[in-house]
Amino acid sequence: MTPEDSNPSASHEPHLRPDPPRPAVDPSEARADRHLRFEPAGAESTFRDGHSVWDEPDILPGRSDDLIEQDWLCSACGYNLRGLFVGQRCPECGRVEFYRPPPAGVDSYRTWLQRRIERTRPETCWLVACGAALVGGLWAVIASLIGTQHAGIGGWSTFILAAVYAPAIEETMKIAAGAYVVELRPHWFKRQEQIHLATVGAAVVFAIIENLIYLYVFVQSPTVKLALWRWLVCTAIHVGCTYLAARGLVEVWRQALTEFRRPRITRALRYLVPAIILHGAYNGSMIAAEGIFGPFL
Ligand SMILES: [Zn+2]
Repeated sequence: MTPEDSNPSASHEPHLRPDPPRPAVDPSEARADRHLRFEPAGAESTFRDGHSVWDEPDILPGRSDDLIEQDWLCSACGYNLRGLFVGQRCPECGRVEFYRPPPAGVDSYRTWLQRRIERTRPETCWLVACGAALVGGLWAVIASLIGTQHAGIGGWSTFILAAVYAPAIEETMKIAAGAYVVELRPHWFKRQEQIHLATVGAAVVFAIIENLIYLYVFVQSPTVKLALWRWLVCTAIHVGCTYLAARGLVEVWRQALTEFRRPRITRALRYLVPAIILHGAYNGSMIAAEGIFGPFL
């Protein structure tokens, strides 16, 4: 026993003593050691599963039937379960909600998010939104160039490529950077306008680059009518569809910030899928019109 161990003072409890010098690391474990040293920083900036027992599903026996005393929406239908007991069926759709709000004061996703919201400055959020707009726009360009440009094919393959694959890839990628922030760093947005800037901004960036590629690379000496059509109609389609898809992200983000609950990003699909269908319907109708009436731009 060292003299340090025999000191009975409360201020000499083991966890209050200075850290002992680090033992030399076995060379074969140097890589793992480096990784472990960075791990607390990563865990602090991103909330991971297993951080808190209070964020686990409510499936273990012996948990009390507490009253839900805050806004807590049903995962299936969005009904506010406030005032009901946990485990009670949703009066609207009958679903039993698997998660309950964490008790006040315990370490949970709620406290993690509240800390991050307090620390995030408003100007950071606008910077993130601008960055997401640029990144999302470029991602969409790269994805559409890689995924949907296959010269030489024709007929139904072209139709399916333009009316199904291209809209799915473009609509998903335009909001992808915004969706990343909403799902993993919801505190980086403080206002819904920032989500619109991140997503609709990406649509504008994408439309500008796509128009330039069409008018200066794909089409040799385009007509004024085609140029006007691309800058007005195609840009409007991109912006309009992305605005629709962004509504889903706004809903997910708002729920996460009002309930201090992990964002459920799949709920955004309710708006992303109609945006893809709308975009596909436009592309499909343009190809069909061109097939019937011949090139008209
Ligand atoms: Zn419900």
